[in-house]
Amino acid sequence: MNSEPLTPSQLSELTTGLNRVARNLWWTWNQDAQDVFRDLSPRGWRNLYHNAVAILHEVSDYELGVRLQEAAFAERVRGVIQQFDAYLNESDTWGCANMAHLKERPVVYFSAEFGFHETLPIAAGGLGMLAGDHAKSASDLGLGFVGISLFYREGYFMQAINQDNWQTEYYTLLNPKNLPIEPVLDAKGEPIQGSVRIATNQVYFRAWRVNVGRIPVYLLDTNLPENEDHYKDLTLRVYGGDASTRMMQEILLGVGGVRLLRLLGIEPSVFHMNEGHAAFLGLELMREKMAAGQSLEASKEATKRECIFTTHTPVEAGHDRFSSDLMAFTAHEFSKQLNLDHESLMDLGRVRAGDQGEPFCMTVLALRLSRAANGVSELHGQVSREMWQCLYPDVSVEQVPIGHVTNGVHLLGWMKGPVRAFWKDRLGEAWADEVNESTFWEQMLDPEFISDEELWSLRYRLRRELIEFTRRRLLLQGHHLTAGDYIAFDHLLNPDALTVGFARRFATYKRAPLVFQQFDRVVELVKDKERPVQFIFAGKAHPRDDEGKKFIQHIIHLSKFSELTGHLVFIENYDVHVARQMVSGCDVWLNNPRRPLEASGTSGQKTSPHGCLNLSMLDGWWREGYDGTNGFAIGEDSHPDSIEIQDRVDSENLFTTLTEEVVPCFFNRDQTGIPRQWIQKIRRAMATLSAEYSTWRMVRDYANRYYRPET
Ligand SMILES: *Cc1c(COP(=O)(O)O)cnc(C)c1O
Repeated sequence: MNSEPLTPSQLSELTTGLNRVARNLWWTWNQDAQDVFRDLSPRGWRNLYHNAVAILHEVSDYELGVRLQEAAFAERVRGVIQQFDAYLNESDTWGCANMAHLKERPVVYFSAEFGFHETLPIAAGGLGMLAGDHAKSASDLGLGFVGISLFYREGYFMQAINQDNWQTEYYTLLNPKNLPIEPVLDAKGEPIQGSVRIATNQVYFRAWRVNVGRIPVYLLDTNLPENEDHYKDLTLRVYGGDASTRMMQEILLGVGGVRLLRLLGIEPSVFHMNEGHAAFLGLELMREKMAAGQSLEASKEATKRECIFTTHTPVEAGHDRFSSDLMAFTAHEFSKQLNLDHESLMDLGRVRAGDQGEPFCMTVLALRLSRAANGVSELHGQVSREMWQCLYPDVSVEQVPIGHVTNGVHLLGWMKGPVRAFWKDRLGEAWADEVNESTFWEQMLDPEFISDEELWSLRYRLRRELIEFTRRRLLLQGHHLTAGDYIAFDHLLNPDALTVGFARRFATYKRAPLVFQQFDRVVELVKDKERPVQFIFAGKAHPRDDEGKKFIQHIIHLSKFSELTGHLVFIENYDVHVARQMVSGCDVWLNNPRRPLEASGTSGQKTSPHGCLNLSMLDGWWREGYDGTNGFAIGEDSHPDSIEIQDRVDSENLFTTLTEEVVPCFFNRDQTGIPRQWIQKIRRAMATLSAEYSTWRMVRDYANRYYRPET
């Protein structure tokens, strides 16, 4: 190509543009942008763990300038910047057309964790991933939306497995300079600073801003010289420390979050509490109203009109409960501000007012201080109504005011690069919006639109990529490797085998090792030369959950020292990146929670755009998603009362489905070697699940039901 060299001003336009793109997470769901960063330093891309900001530090301005003199590369960069600016300035969005009122007065979404990308590891699991996906889709849809959370400078723990196959945790300090975050400044260019009262101390905070496409998410940070050491570390780790730390973090999130909004001049129309962690925000709103002269009752009613609440789990431990002593010590400021004695304050978080034995429950507070509440799947809505009927003694279970909005995932964010390219090839430039609509996915049913051969070839490519990723990771995980090990790892796993994946938090109710209860039958499956099956597992147990750690230990032990060796692997340090590899590369996504404890589950929703099929209990979202043709169900739409019976029956059912339905369908090939029925299921899964279980659908549901002005 013959072209003029770039002028200094053209050059600086491109370099500043690229720097802007790197500091907005939009690039994580735009493949062209991602490819530009990767091509700047392919090795850095891998070693810096796909961190665009760090790449731009790794590549000097001089090098970047020289690279941009290559016309084709400059053209790509220009294209990315144009796409980015077009995205930011788009006025023709669903939100503009339908939710214009949120432009002036946004929804503010409070969440103790947000999962956006592997470079900003401030989520512990599905709850945080959901919050991140909610924000991304709110951006895509053009909603007026703001997120509030904390900046955990050591994030969530990283997992290592020691010689005893026991999970150990380690932490690394995040460096804000290398992250897509920026300090929040006031008009004078000084960091904005606020404070909250915790116990007898004034605790100061500042904030970081994360740009998630068109919307900001603010992360509060107490690591300031003004604070005592103890409070500097309040925002050290996601759910770090004991109940006291937890409560202090929640005061910061709820009260500090509201105060930050006031400092920024943001006037929310809705406060959305994602889980009970955020519920102290309601007490702060009441305080404000009382300070302005309203009565306690009036301020409570007014607060209620502004707040909505999403509950995420029927598991007991998922509902924060704080003792009376802890409340008296750490949160007595609320009593003072609301002019309540301690017992009356406690009663706001109790099911039975006046029951001094009952701790303060954040879920109860959230339900009391919101105008609407919802669970995250149909079944979970029902279970939540039963669970909290105690708060509404005058109404029947069906009338308990807790609805449901089934969770979803941000499709573009979860798609792997080759999959984005695959769909874009077929759709052209408009695909990024279309990919969220069911009309697009319904075309998958048409063999003219896409052939079995193309789909099968895509499946092979993705499985191959997962296997190579797994080999690389296992090599990195290995201790004291011999030369022979290196060769062995290069042959680990079989690219032709039916690959079953399981990855999520190792909470015990998720029963990671359930499939191995039928050990001899699993051995038979994996050793079958004609129809081989293999398993890939990953997941973290909570640092204090020894039962979960035993599950991990058990599975790793089997992978190393049983007949399953070579057919079962455990990938350490599960995170967003590992998740993306697995949900795309596996053929089958296994989920076998103890029903009805999986409120929704979202990892299975990430699979369908990649052509991976769900094999799951009829719990959470899958109870709604499964239609008999688009994947596989384990057991019935019911469950026994006894846990022992349930575990036994479920493991038997799991095996029956696996051996009688999944394996035969996968290996039933026609003369040309194509599993036609399997691919038909893939088509059905893509057509029926991808758009329906996206956050594009979910956020519109929230908007239509809960984000409209109060009437
Ligand atoms: C999607 C996801 C989860 C949630 O998985 P579930 O199956 O819903 O429990 C947890 N962690 C990560 C990293 C994820 O990507």
